[in-house]
Amino acid sequence: AGHLQQIRTHNTSLNAFLEVYEEEATTQAALIDAKLKAGSAGKLAGLVVGIKDLLCYEGHHSYAGSKILNSFKSTFSATAVQRLLDEDAIIIGRQNCDEFGMGSTNENSAFGPVMNFANPAYVAGGSSGGSAVAVQAGMCQVSLGTDTGGSIRMPAAFCGVIGLKPTYGLVSRWGLIAYASSFDSIGPIANYVSDARLVLDIIKGEDGQDSTLSSKVPAATPGTKRIAYIKEVAEHPSLQPEIKAAFEVQVEKLKVLGYTVEGVDFPYIDQLLPTYYVLTTAESSSNLSRFDGVKFGHRTANPVDLMQLYKRTRQEGFGAEVQRRIMLGTFVLSADYYDAYYTKAQKVRRLIQDKTLSILLDYDFIISPTTSSTAYRLGEKTLDPIQMYLGDLFTVQANVVGIPGLSIPMGSDSAGLPMGFQLMTSPFQEAKMLDLGELLS
Ligand code: GLN
Repeated sequence: AGHLQQIRTHNTSLNAFLEVYEEEATTQAALIDAKLKAGSAGKLAGLVVGIKDLLCYEGHHSYAGSKILNSFKSTFSATAVQRLLDEDAIIIGRQNCDEFGMGSTNENSAFGPVMNFANPAYVAGGSSGGSAVAVQAGMCQVSLGTDTGGSIRMPAAFCGVIGLKPTYGLVSRWGLIAYASSFDSIGPIANYVSDARLVLDIIKGEDGQDSTLSSKVPAATPGTKRIAYIKEVAEHPSLQPEIKAAFEVQVEKLKVLGYTVEGVDFPYIDQLLPTYYVLTTAESSSNLSRFDGVKFGHRTANPVDLMQLYKRTRQEGFGAEVQRRIMLGTFVLSADYYDAYYTKAQKVRRLIQDKTLSILLDYDFIISPTTSSTAYRLGEKTLDPIQMYLGDLFTVQANVVGIPGLSIPMGSDSAGLPMGFQLMTSPFQEAKMLDLGELLS
């Protein structure tokens, strides 16, 4: 009830939830109460969860932050959502996000931006902006977000909450409206590491619906107590001085905890974003071809023929950033440029993967600030997409490689805006990463 009250008080100004399932959640809560009394409640009994608008929930709308999915209702639930329901979590509503997850500030949502609860003149971060602010403002305990290139961790950092991106292949993508299929992952945003861990344990694991899930998950490895930071990141010119200072404090803290913390070289910093944006635009241009006005959501009025139906539906339905990405992706996949861009980016992806995993053979974690700056003012970056993309520099590595990443709060700057600290580790070593995250937060 406290969460619904927070929503009533703050959602009009913050715009975190696009829809609140007030009645349904209340009914669900009563049922769970009865189950609790009977001793038959699930492991998440009563946990109040919000879900990003990219996740399907049977009988409910999912718009992916886009006009093109106007009035779309899903006939099934995403595996992750279903598993939460099966353990008696309460789904309280669907949360605002950048259209199809494409953005870093939530300003690319067709339903308006999300305001940061720390200061509403600032953005929430994106693309899971509504999910982060909902947790930050106490509108729910946990949110399910998605992270293709930082979309869980970045808004978590901007909002001072915890964001976990699991290993690629650990959580089923079934029922997640696809952005870039070889990068997308579903994960929790929470106020406590323990809640993130609890939710991950429920949503992870095999599911016949997603063939990219790993069937053999390696066991937890004992730690070496060695931690690396990438020198080019820790010294990056874009780093806000207060973030740099707070990061150095974290490093000292880790040393006090008995860790060896060392700088390592990573020669591909300048290749991270181009690789990410070539591959994700390529994959998204293909994934978004299914929105044609025939099968789902919006359909243009009175088209004269099929071609016009496609064209006008897509022109009317997709926002400017999504159209930009479709054009970029179509270009890098076109016959003349495929080898120069797409194949090249795949090769560089492999180099980045090999180098990152080789660092993680010697070290338990790679640490960094989650973002180089605190939240931007609303509108500050919207006119310059390149500036916007640069904000993803520290987060995309985990997705390019497929490894897990965790953002935990690292205090606030002098303007009162939250800062985030990021841990990355080897595939499937989430438990170890959450342990350290818990120790530090
Ligand atoms: N900002 C990145 C992008 O626009 C990240 C998106 C995401 O993780 N969904 O692609």
